[in-house]
Amino acid sequence: MPAPTGAHPARRSRPDPSIRRVGVLAVQGGVREHVDLLASMQVLPVPIRRAADLIGADGPRVDALVLPGGESSVLDRLTRTLGLADALSEVISGGLPTLGTCAGLIMLADRIENPAPGQRSIGGLGITVDRNAFGAQVVSEEATVETVWGPVHAAFIRAPRVVQLGSAALAARHRGEVVAVTQGNLIGVAFHPELTGDTTVHEQLLKLV
Ligand code: GLN
Repeated sequence: MPAPTGAHPARRSRPDPSIRRVGVLAVQGGVREHVDLLASMQVLPVPIRRAADLIGADGPRVDALVLPGGESSVLDRLTRTLGLADALSEVISGGLPTLGTCAGLIMLADRIENPAPGQRSIGGLGITVDRNAFGAQVVSEEATVETVWGPVHAAFIRAPRVVQLGSAALAARHRGEVVAVTQGNLIGVAFHPELTGDTTVHEQLLKLV
């Protein structure tokens, strides 16, 4: 069958404004898994590699943002080297709904208990994190975590733990430790929901939009 001829090409290529755009910081770490999970949720994942991907003259270019797991000290260094750190701070402190998983949670913490030399965080969550709390004992495990949003099937990989809740609200504990928190536009989880295909936490992020 021939393609319909009536549609104007410019109109066809214009993005549908009803589709949510969710940025995924794409400089290091578990980017692909978040992109795949978001794509399965009828939203448009947008890889964020430079400041212009995240913010334009009239504000953020995405409706929400995910900071993936990886290595928080490397993410910190790369975002500063690439000139992304200030843009991240601006949109996050400006209220953009943002989810940090694992190293992403560390980036959102106001205080890091044992940072790498020179490591800084963006902040926003009034918590203190211990970077490699589960590291020595539990290199990797899969578990179902009881969260305030319901059970989440997730993976723990050298997971941080929240040692001080500060001004954030508790969203889940695991093995007695705080592993999920919320505060305003921010959600932070110490685990990886994107590795098991569980959409619960990402749905929560979209509810903040
Ligand atoms: N502990 C790691 C860090 O310092 C995070 C591990 C992870 O994201 N899987 O960044």
